[in-house]
Amino acid sequence: MFNDLMLQAGKHSSVIRELNDFGRIRARELGEDSVFDFSIGGPSVPVPDSVRQKILALASEEDAVRVHGYSPSKGFDHTREQIAKGIERRFGVAVPADLIYMTCGASAALAISINALCEPGDEFILCAPYFTEYPVYVRAAGGIPVTVPFLDNFDVDLNALENSLTSRTKAVIVNSPNNPSGKVYSEALIQALARILGKKSAQTGKPIFIISDEPYRELVYDGVQVPFVMAHYPHTVVCYSYSKTFSVPGERIGYIAVSPSAAQARYLFCAIEGAGRTLGYVCAPSMLQMVVAECESEKPNVGAYAQNRKLIYDGLTQIGFECVPPEGAFYLFVKAPRGDSEEFSLRARKYGILIVPGDDFAAKGYCRVAYCVDERRIMRALPLFAKLKAEYDE
Ligand code: PLP
Repeated sequence: MFNDLMLQAGKHSSVIRELNDFGRIRARELGEDSVFDFSIGGPSVPVPDSVRQKILALASEEDAVRVHGYSPSKGFDHTREQIAKGIERRFGVAVPADLIYMTCGASAALAISINALCEPGDEFILCAPYFTEYPVYVRAAGGIPVTVPFLDNFDVDLNALENSLTSRTKAVIVNSPNNPSGKVYSEALIQALARILGKKSAQTGKPIFIISDEPYRELVYDGVQVPFVMAHYPHTVVCYSYSKTFSVPGERIGYIAVSPSAAQARYLFCAIEGAGRTLGYVCAPSMLQMVVAECESEKPNVGAYAQNRKLIYDGLTQIGFECVPPEGAFYLFVKAPRGDSEEFSLRARKYGILIVPGDDFAAKGYCRVAYCVDERRIMRALPLFAKLKAEYDE
């Protein structure tokens, strides 16, 4: 009676949401102080001041129609122009404003881009560990998700990726800085990926696209540089979000940028407009588009996350947990002591610690700790992590 794909997607809600709901119920039962919720990637640092000021000014403007009215389907010209200027200034790639489409965050950007590219039966390569929603979007668009494994340091296994390419491969989805591993792919890795995809595209005569999912682009530590994929590979579609950069995930604002060097870039953009229209993802929030137009170059307060990162990484490794130091985003991906992430997450729950098993990220054997929380929460959780580790050592 209903669309089964949609019914299944609705029935099996994401494990992250499920854990977060569990945390809220426990907090009501036992009190906030007894729950250590490291499950969700919601920014914990304040909205940058210029962004807050702009929101306040717009919210109190008399001309409500201007501020709260519809924007054009693909977004305000002025906002798209400012974003285009920002990309050129920072990365040296001249993306015309008319190849930029405003969206409700990276989620909509990804769903639109995948729908625009996907013909029935097309394969989309997902580089593990990956954001849990990628296979959901790919299947909903009629595509087939193909998972490529990762190396011990969380780099993409490029040999496996090359072997997984077929004449049906439409795109590779990459996410760096990575959720859940915190990995930032190096320029050398992106260039090697570009070579592999360029070779295969030439062999088959069909371009393979890269969808570069970049909501954590600004969240990096120790001066690590995030290569701009578009500068290294022509057939690139960038999906960006201000959710994490501006600490405004509830406001739903981001964009798609199509590389002007992509095969049939104008037609691809037209398909993006069509996918936005058919999915009903049009006219991203006007007020936030106005904020972006003014605050495009604003940066997040990475300092607080950097402090948490040090605290949790040092704390957990001293206790004896194994993890790779994250270079970006706000996640630590910890090895489950006996290789069983479900068990690790369940055992942690007994101490009120909520961490996400890696299975849905295509990374069995790891759990994700989102350290975008109050620093005191980490300090209070560390002795409990120590008890948890001692359980395993008995
Ligand atoms: N992609 C990745 C890798 C994410 O981690 C998230 C959210 O956490 C998204 C996309 C979706 O972000 P948005 O809030 O912009 O929809």
